[in-house]
Amino acid sequence: MSTVICVDGPAASGKSTVSKLIAQKIGYLYVDSGALYRIVTWLIKEDGCNMSSTEEIAEFAKNARVDFLPKENRVAYEVKGREPGDNIRSPEINALVSPVSAVPEVRALVTGWLRGMRSLGNLVVEGRDIGSVVFPDSVNRFYLDADPDVRARRRHKEDVAKGFADSASEGKVKESLLNRDKIDSTRKAAPLTIPEGAMVIDTTEMTIEQVADTIIVNIK
Ligand code: C5P
Repeated sequence: MSTVICVDGPAASGKSTVSKLIAQKIGYLYVDSGALYRIVTWLIKEDGCNMSSTEEIAEFAKNARVDFLPKENRVAYEVKGREPGDNIRSPEINALVSPVSAVPEVRALVTGWLRGMRSLGNLVVEGRDIGSVVFPDSVNRFYLDADPDVRARRRHKEDVAKGFADSASEGKVKESLLNRDKIDSTRKAAPLTIPEGAMVIDTTEMTIEQVADTIIVNIK
């Protein structure tokens, strides 16, 4: 069985950047589980599904298809032969992804995909329920957190670079981020939680390198 490093935490706590760096440093494959929830949300929206109907979303989840392939230090995703771009990170998808992710059929679909990736090699998987639900047998569980203002500042900077936000909208970014955290941590199915026995790392005052190295030295 391959080794899985689970990196959970709220939005913009540094999971993606840190997980990518760890994968690169130790030769594991980086897995972005949030991107899978975003892809499903995007596909559902494109399909013209009624976003407020849990039944329609659940029905769609039965037939959704995403292909996976190891590419450099990550698991890449393709939909109909193409990698989805930054459109899965738009403010519109930000607003829809947490309600869609709360639908149990969507979670079952993505959880199955993630577990299947173990056959591809050793993984660094980031998300919200990775250590608690997806790979509960993994001994490598980490939970990143940071001050909400710092998280909003980091995400706002990224959004400005992608053209999704203007320089004056940090407040809006914070609101959207906290709203997602609230839905993610209060939903019934696989809520965002600190997995049992996880090492909690507050990244507020830490550099990416420091967080990555703290995780690497603690891998069992
Ligand atoms: O990590 P990212 O912010 O891209 O995740 C987008 C959304 O996907 C989260 O807000 C959450 O609703 C959902 N998600 C989840 N479980 C995961 C990863 C992401 O529910 N393991």
